[in-house]
Amino acid sequence: MEVVKYPHPVLKMVCKPLRKVDAELKAMILEMFPLMYETRGVGLAANQVGLPYRFFIMNPTGDAEKKDQEFVFINPEITLGAGKPEEDEEGCLSFPKIYAKVKRSPKVTITGFDLDGQPVKKVFKGFPARIVQHEFDHLNGISFVDRLSESEMDYVESDVTQLEWNFRKALETREELDLESIQKEIDELIARRC
Ligand code: ZN
Repeated sequence: MEVVKYPHPVLKMVCKPLRKVDAELKAMILEMFPLMYETRGVGLAANQVGLPYRFFIMNPTGDAEKKDQEFVFINPEITLGAGKPEEDEEGCLSFPKIYAKVKRSPKVTITGFDLDGQPVKKVFKGFPARIVQHEFDHLNGISFVDRLSESEMDYVESDVTQLEWNFRKALETREELDLESIQKEIDELIARRC
């Protein structure tokens, strides 16, 4: 399992709700936590590891020891709280070394299901609320760079272009990587669990 980088097409798709979480998927979800910690992330969406499903994981502390801060939200729905959007710096494991300021709601309510299929409802404020909005966006094919102001975009544009160039280059040079097989794999994963 690895984190896919922008502009991999799976990052631009609207992920599909899960019909079931089988043992194989459960194992993959649990595998995402060490991957997230290794890459110093605080959240990871399913499509960031190539899974076209509506779920994400997070641990706002980024600390593998703090198990009580680990969350899995399956088929989540969010409601943004009232309050002035707050601007702060964000990064994304699919956009290595790119950081920019994004406006997010200071409060969010999230409902969904946990790994055992139990309904969950949580309210987050501040930084954890920011993570929830960032990860939820991923499930709708939206990356944080899609939410940048013009000046913030100017600031990171050349780095984003570089990632696009890297991906194009990989498509040209890596024989196992082509858009058709990527789409086929996505379709098979959807057919299996959605
Ligand atoms: Zn991200």
